[in-house]
Amino acid sequence: MKAVFIGPPGAGKGTYASYFSRKYCIPHISTGDIFRDEIAKGTELGEIIKKYIDKGELVPDDIVIEVVKKRLNQPDTRNGFILDGFPRTLNQAKALDEITQIDVAVYIYVPIEIAIERLSNRYICPKCHRIYNLKFNPPKNDLRCDYDGEKLIRRPDDEPEVVKNRYKVYYEQSHPVIDYYRRKNLLIEVDNSSSAEIVVVLLEKTLIERGILKLKPCNPNVSIR
Ligand code: ADP
Repeated sequence: MKAVFIGPPGAGKGTYASYFSRKYCIPHISTGDIFRDEIAKGTELGEIIKKYIDKGELVPDDIVIEVVKKRLNQPDTRNGFILDGFPRTLNQAKALDEITQIDVAVYIYVPIEIAIERLSNRYICPKCHRIYNLKFNPPKNDLRCDYDGEKLIRRPDDEPEVVKNRYKVYYEQSHPVIDYYRRKNLLIEVDNSSSAEIVVVLLEKTLIERGILKLKPCNPNVSIR
């Protein structure tokens, strides 16, 4: 399955992408995670992109497209992949069409008030990129990752002022991507206001019934959290 997961900040793209990636053993490619790793490692690319991310602006298309192109060339994408947070502009969507033909675009959305509440309680593991929420999905041990014990961190761009700008940027630049895939008949819409455990069952069923998800699970008992 070659899928893109799109939608506004805090909608749940990363949570669902991680679930399908672990259950079906296809790579979860999050441009946000790739960029945060580059910043943490202090690479030349990290230096360039940090100023955009810290302000909630988009990283320029040419940089993002190059990064994704390189990643999709890796052999582990042979049986499929989930792109999370890409494409975020029409230019990126058109560039992706040149690289490969995707099977589905999953549009995950929630009302903005819910997203802001989720983002203000979000912590992430800088090592394995797992996502926690202090209210809805807290770690078992005080701010440590359940899987690797790493100290959880808050993303600087989850601060309320930056979130506001990320939403503005989303409506101006990323929202048109939804219509782009709707017109191509590739769009599946997912209202993620209810619990993730329920939503994921419906989404998985839809993907299987429509013949989009044909892989056999490599880890059948994976849970969404
Ligand atoms: P979100 O929770 O907003 O979906 P991400 O982790 O996907 O967050 O992205 C964090 C930041 O990384 C974005 O605000 C943006 O600055 C940058 N970024 C990630 N993906 C892209 C992309 N496809 N195009 C441009 N910038 C991107």
